[in-house]
Amino acid sequence: MTAPLFSLEVFPPRRNASIGTIYDTLDGLQGLSPAFISVTYGTGRKTDKTATARIANTIRTEYGIDAVAHLTAVYLSKADVDEALGLFDEAKVSGVLALRGDRDTERPPVGDFRHATDLVAYIRERRPDLKIYGACYPEKHPEVETMAEDVRHLREKVDAGCSHLVSQLFYDNDDFYRFLEMTDAAGIDVPIEAGVMPVMNPKSVVNMSTKCGSSLPPAVRRMLERWGDDRESLRAAGVCYASEQIADLVANGVDGVHLYTMNHPSVTRRIWSNVRPLFS
Ligand code: FAD
Repeated sequence: MTAPLFSLEVFPPRRNASIGTIYDTLDGLQGLSPAFISVTYGTGRKTDKTATARIANTIRTEYGIDAVAHLTAVYLSKADVDEALGLFDEAKVSGVLALRGDRDTERPPVGDFRHATDLVAYIRERRPDLKIYGACYPEKHPEVETMAEDVRHLREKVDAGCSHLVSQLFYDNDDFYRFLEMTDAAGIDVPIEAGVMPVMNPKSVVNMSTKCGSSLPPAVRRMLERWGDDRESLRAAGVCYASEQIADLVANGVDGVHLYTMNHPSVTRRIWSNVRPLFS
């Protein structure tokens, strides 16, 4: 039986933080040996468009780990994407996670890429050998009416050239297993990694799940109620919950687990020390 993939996600430091803080995150993740670390890409007006490529380059050259660069196209023109791909080539990324990104109601999209599928097709044409990752949603993306419709669009994204999928966070593994049945029935045959985000901070759990349309099962709600004002205990419970979630996912034969580190290496390390033997 092949071991499942284990990968991590980090984000560039916030606008007012020093770029150097990413070193603290990456230093803290040393020794974890993930298959890759992916680096998010911002859609904000003031986003530093070179940060993702620079951090990806650092991950590869200074930490010896493959890096995957996210790219969100909603506010990019084709020329912007060409420029980003050039930076990713220089950084020698092992793949690109091609995303549409969230639309801001007060800012019209550029319009060159309406859906992530358009970006996937564009990159596939220009970089035939590049590994292209795509996002998927076990509880459906909030903008579609039905799971069936979302899975139909996902199939189009894979057909356009996506070679690997990474899921949105979810807290109930049964949602992910139901989703896998649907993708299987739709003939989607690329690896699908399960996205796991540890419970760390009550505000961000509620905000993220509202924004992403991920449900909060009773067990998570009870954790937030009991330890919402006690950060240390909530983190300890979050580490246990994520570790159990991962053990169950691996026992059920998933292709891989993508852990959202939230740039908190100590939490990531605690989870990794619990689940490490399951990935060999
Ligand atoms: P799409 O695949 O285009 O899907 C968006 C919606 O459009 C879905 O409802 C889909 O069903 C629908 N759709 C697709 N095709 C069609 C069609 N032909 N006709 C009609 N409807 C269609 N955001 C960031 O800003 N930066 C990041 O780095 C980032 N990383 C992420 C990583 C992962 C693993 C995930 C799951 C999400 C990430 N996001 C990130 C969030 C993401 O940008 C949002 O979820 C965004 O709203 C959708 O992006 P997408 O690539 O999934 O879009």
